[in-house]
Amino acid sequence: MIPLRLAFGCQRGVRRGLLRLSPMRELRGIPVSPGVAIGPLFVVEDQKRRIARRTIAPEAVAGELARIDRALAASIAELSELRTKTQAELGDEAAKIFAFHIGMLADRSLTGPMRAGVEKDLLTAEFAVASSLEALAAKFASFGEGAFKTKVDDVNDLAQRVLRHVIGEPATRLADLRDPAVVATRDLTPSQAASFDRDRVRGFVTETGGKTGHTGIFARAMGIPAVVGVKGIMDAAPSTAGAMIVVDGDSGRIIIDPDAETLAHYERARERDRLFRLKLDDLRELPSITADGVPIELLGNIEFPREIAAVLAAGGTGIGLYRTEYLFLATDKEPTEAEHFAAYSACVTALAGRPLTIRTMDLGADKYTQARAENPERNPMLGCRSIRYCLQHPAMFKRQLRAILRASALGPVKIMFPLVTTPEEFRRARFFLRDVMEDLHDEGLAFDRNVPVGMMVEVPSAALCAEMFARDADFFSIGTNDLVQYTLAVDRTNELVAGMYNPANPAVLALIRQTIHAAEHGGQDGRGIPVSCCGESAGELEHALLLIGMGLRSLSASAPALPAVKRLVRSVTIPQCEDVVKKATALDSDAAVISYLRDATRKIIPEALGGRSAD
Ligand code: PEP
Ligand code: MG
Repeated sequence: MIPLRLAFGCQRGVRRGLLRLSPMRELRGIPVSPGVAIGPLFVVEDQKRRIARRTIAPEAVAGELARIDRALAASIAELSELRTKTQAELGDEAAKIFAFHIGMLADRSLTGPMRAGVEKDLLTAEFAVASSLEALAAKFASFGEGAFKTKVDDVNDLAQRVLRHVIGEPATRLADLRDPAVVATRDLTPSQAASFDRDRVRGFVTETGGKTGHTGIFARAMGIPAVVGVKGIMDAAPSTAGAMIVVDGDSGRIIIDPDAETLAHYERARERDRLFRLKLDDLRELPSITADGVPIELLGNIEFPREIAAVLAAGGTGIGLYRTEYLFLATDKEPTEAEHFAAYSACVTALAGRPLTIRTMDLGADKYTQARAENPERNPMLGCRSIRYCLQHPAMFKRQLRAILRASALGPVKIMFPLVTTPEEFRRARFFLRDVMEDLHDEGLAFDRNVPVGMMVEVPSAALCAEMFARDADFFSIGTNDLVQYTLAVDRTNELVAGMYNPANPAVLALIRQTIHAAEHGGQDGRGIPVSCCGESAGELEHALLLIGMGLRSLSASAPALPAVKRLVRSVTIPQCEDVVKKATALDSDAAVISYLRDATRKIIPEALGGRSAD
C-alpha cells in the first residue's frame, strides 16, 4: 500500500468561526475515475454488525422464521428495484450483479441453514442469518486473497442488507446523505455504488480496492471522480467527518482539510477542467486530424455495450476494444451463446456501420471468475489467463467465437485475441475460429468469412517478435497496461510499486516502436497491417503525444478521455510529436521523461492536466 503521508505539516486555520488546529493531510491511492471533487466529507461507517448468539424458546420458532422470510422478501424487493434502476442507467450487464444477489437469497443452500439455525438450534433470526452468511463469506475467503475477494464483499453486502431488515433498521448511512458531499468508506460494494445519487455524491474514496474492481467501473460509468486503495482514510476520516476533502481522480491524491492555498489551487483546477471540457464539446463534430493534415483515428474502449452511446457522443468513430470478460465478471456465470450474441449484436446495431473490435475473454490474473477461484494460482499474472485460459476451455471459447461470428453478419466486426505470447498460440486460436466457421456454415448460419483477426501486443515476446506475428495477424492493438507490467516486472494492481509503473519508460517505448515498425512493414505481402493502441496511455495526453510521434495513427481510449485527445491531435503537427519522442528518449530517468512530457503537453494545450498539476 502507498504510505500515508502527513505531508504538509500543521497550520492554523479558522473554520466555522473557531480557531483550531487544522493539519492538512494528504493521502494517496489509486485513481480510478478522473476529475477533481471538492466537498464536505461524509463518512460511511463500517456497517458490520456484531450479533450476539442468543437462543429462543421453542414456541418462538414460527415467529423467528417469519422474521427471516419477511427480511428475505424485503431484501429481494429492494434488490429488484436496484436491478431495474441499474439496468436503465448502466445496462443489462451491470444489472446482472443484482440478479446474482437475488439468486443467492433465493438459493436453498443459503436459506436452508438459516432456517435450520432457528428450527434445530433455537437461534434468533438475526444470529441464524448472520452466521449462515458469515459461513458463506468464509468459504469464499478460503479460496484465496484477491481471487474471490469480490464474492466475499458481495456476501457481506448481502448480509448487511438482510440483517437490516431482520432487525428493522430502516436506512443505511449512505442513504442518509442529504447534501452534496464526498463519500469515504472502507469498501464500496456494487450495490452501494449503483444506488449513489449522482447529484449528491461529488466524489468518493475507499480504503480498499484496485483499478479493475467493480467500484472503478461504476465510478467511470457515472462520471464521478474516485480514488480507491487509500490506506488510512478510515482512520483519518472519523475525526474529520464534515471537514473539507479534495479528491483528485487524476493523480490519486486525497487532501483532508486543505489549507486556503491548496483549496484555491484545486478550485482553480476544477474550474479550468470544467471550462476545458466545455470547450472540448465544440470539437465533437470536427475531424480528428493533426494541424498538418494527418488523420488520427479515435476509437473507444468499453466494458458494457451501453457505453457506446458515450463513445459516439465524445467523438469516437468506433470501438477499438470491447472487454467482453465483463459479461462474465458482472455475474460470475459463464454467458450462454445467446447472451454473448445479444451483447455483440446490440453493439453492432448501436454502431450503425462503424467498426467494432471484440476482444475475446481476458479472464484470469486480476479478472477472476468464481470457477477460477476454486483453483487459485501461485502467480496468476503469469498464469493461465486470457487466451491461454480460452485455449484450455475450448467449449467456452467456441461459444464466444460462434456468437462473435454470428454478429459479424450484421456489421463490421473484428476479432482480437488478448495476451498472445507465441505465434503457435495465435495460430491455435485461429484454428478454433476456422472450426467454428465450418460449424456455422454447416448449420446454414450467416457470418463474415473475412472477419479481420488480430491480436493485442501486450507481452514483451509479442513486441520483440512482432514481425513474425504480423505474418499471421490481420492487425495489432498495443495493450500498454499489460506491456508496461510485463516489461518492467511491475504488478499493475500493486500500490507498493505503483511509482515504478511508467508507460514512458525507454524499454516500453522501444517495444512500442518495434511493434509499430513491424506492423508498418510486415504482413503477408509486406504492405503492412493496421496497428492501434488501446491501453490507458492512448487516452493520456502526454503519452498520446509520444504514440503519435512514434507513428501510431489510431488510438482507442475510454469515452471521457476522447475529447481531450482530439484537441491534442488538432493542436499538433507530426514533426512536433516526433521531436517530443526524440527528446523524451534521450533522457535517462523515468522522472525526467515524465516531467518533460508534462511540460511538452502543457506547451501544446496550456489548460490540459489542469486537475493534476498540484505538484
Ligand atoms: C492492456 O493491457 O493495455 C489492455 C488494454 O487490456 P486490459 O487493461 O483489459 O488488460
Ligand atoms: Mg491487457
